[in-house]
Amino acid sequence: MELIDGNKIAAAIIAELKAQVAALPGRKPCIALVRVGEDPASVSYVKKKELACAEIGIASQLLFPPVTISADELFALVDKLNADPDVDGILVQSPLPKHLNEVAVFRRIAAHKDVDGFHTLNLGKLAQEDDTGFVACTPAGIMELLQRSGVKLAGKHVVMLGRSLIVGKPAALLALQRKPWANATVTVCHSQTANLPSITCQADVLIAAIGKAEFVTADMVKPGAVVIDVGVNRVPDLTKKSGYRLTGDVHFSTVAPLCSKITPVPGGVGPMTVAMLMQNTLKARRQSLIQVGNK
Ligand code: NAP
Repeated sequence: MELIDGNKIAAAIIAELKAQVAALPGRKPCIALVRVGEDPASVSYVKKKELACAEIGIASQLLFPPVTISADELFALVDKLNADPDVDGILVQSPLPKHLNEVAVFRRIAAHKDVDGFHTLNLGKLAQEDDTGFVACTPAGIMELLQRSGVKLAGKHVVMLGRSLIVGKPAALLALQRKPWANATVTVCHSQTANLPSITCQADVLIAAIGKAEFVTADMVKPGAVVIDVGVNRVPDLTKKSGYRLTGDVHFSTVAPLCSKITPVPGGVGPMTVAMLMQNTLKARRQSLIQVGNK
């Protein structure tokens, strides 16, 4: 079994992006990081994104409105960032408080600044295999992780566990693409799927994104499969100072010995998500430079 080291692969991508940003003409790329409220997981995710920006040389604008912000106020904030020529990318950290409609907020972000790839136009471009759009960072990170680990998807059976807009659906669409690094046969499973283990056991590549701690057990995995664990779950653990430990959607200790390759949690998909956000921000800046050049 080989461990896929997301930290190492993400660090290599960050180093590549740093060199590319240094070589850009004009001002550096800039991303607005919007975090509503003080949800601890969101605080930690946004901090990681801010640190990655600093390392690469991407400017970040930090906007932390209170949890009580109204939908209209948040729309106004997004509109302001949409209109700001010095902002290339906008990220509104998910999840938003319950009184805010997340999809409506994602749609409000100008599609050409939607570096999270959740806007309807960008999801449509993904379905059409139009590479001018932005692909959601976690699915993009999964594909990059597979490619850089030498996993070839063409002709393989990829089983995607989970159908969210943030992970499952875009990851399935990516693996399906008519591209040399994709061309997989894809099955998507969800909470209503019958006989789940009979399907997951057919997977050459099993991607788990359901948000249920250690749900995928050894009897659900074909020996020799590649397993990508997207889940990030907090499980109470009084031996830890924080009172919890992080675990994926895969029961790592029993599944890992069966696999040819597997990602750990933490240190697998998570760092790739941040690296892909940085890559998308650079892409947004490049596209805005082309726009200016064309005028
Ligand atoms: P989500 O929106 O809650 O979607 C979960 C999906 O799993 C849904 O499609 C759901 O089916 C399916 N599901 C739930 N229980 C199931 C079961 N018992 N059997 C089969 N399918 C089941 O979650 P998400 O946003 O995709 O996130 C999934 C996990 O990935 C979470 O742990 C999240 O924290 C993690 N995540 C990690 C990163 C990262 O950067 N590492 C990024 C994003 C998310 P239905 O559609 O039928 O409800």
